[in-house]
Amino acid sequence: MDIAKNIEQLQKELASGNCKLIAVSKTKPVSTLMDAYEAGIRDFGENKVQEMVEKYEQMPKDIRWHMIGHLQRNKVKYITPFVHLIHSVDSIRLMEEINKQAAKHDRTVSCLLQVHIAEEESKYGFSDEEIFQLIRDETIQHLKYVQVVGVMGMASFTSNESKVRKEFEHLKLLFDALKYNDDLPDQVRMEEISMGMSSDYQIAIEEGSTMLRIGTSIFGERNYQK
Ligand SMILES: *Cc1c(COP(=O)(O)O)cnc(C)c1O
Repeated sequence: MDIAKNIEQLQKELASGNCKLIAVSKTKPVSTLMDAYEAGIRDFGENKVQEMVEKYEQMPKDIRWHMIGHLQRNKVKYITPFVHLIHSVDSIRLMEEINKQAAKHDRTVSCLLQVHIAEEESKYGFSDEEIFQLIRDETIQHLKYVQVVGVMGMASFTSNESKVRKEFEHLKLLFDALKYNDDLPDQVRMEEISMGMSSDYQIAIEEGSTMLRIGTSIFGERNYQK
C-alpha cells in the first residue's frame, strides 16, 4: 500500500472543491498513521475511544482527532480534553454528557448530529423528525459547552448507486432545511456535512459533502484479527 500516493490521488480529486479529507485510521498502528502524517494528513478519524486516546498520546499534537464511531456516555470523559469533532452524536443524553465533561475543561466541544439515512436497521442516528424536535428542545439551550456544527450520515452498504445518491441527497436537504431555519439555538450552526467513505465518496462530493471519512482507499483493507 503506497499511503502517500493514495493521499496525493485523493487530494487531487478534492482540489477543486471545499471538501475536507479525514483519514480513517481505526485498527491501524501508529507507524502507519505516521506515514499519512508525513504525507500531510492532519485529520484522523477513529471509532474506538481507547484506541484514539492511545494514538493521541503517541502522536504529534497538531493532529485533529475525529470520533466517528458510536460513543458511549461513560467514555466521553476520556476524549473531551482533546477531541476536535465528534461526528456521531445520536442522543440528547449523550450531548448532555459531552457538555458536562467539556465544562470541566472549560472547552467547547464541536459535534455533528448523526442522522439515520440508510435503510438498514442497525445504523445509529436521529430521524429527521427527532432532529427538528431536538433543536426545539429547551435542553439544548443549556448546553453551553457543546457546539453543533453540522450533520453526519452513512449511506446503505450497497452497490446501488442511485440509492446511495438519494440517501446523501436526503442528508443535504435536511442540512439546508436546518441551515435556513430562523430559530436555531446558539448551540447549533450548520457548516459541515460529513458523508462519503471509500466506496461512495465521489457520489458524496457531488451531493454536497464537506467532509469525507476515508479509510480503505488510503490505508488498504482492515485486518480485524489484530
Ligand atoms: C470505518 C468507517 C469509515 C471509513 O470506511 P472506509 O470504507 O474504510 O473508507 C467511515 N465512516 C465511519 C463511521 C466508519 O466507521
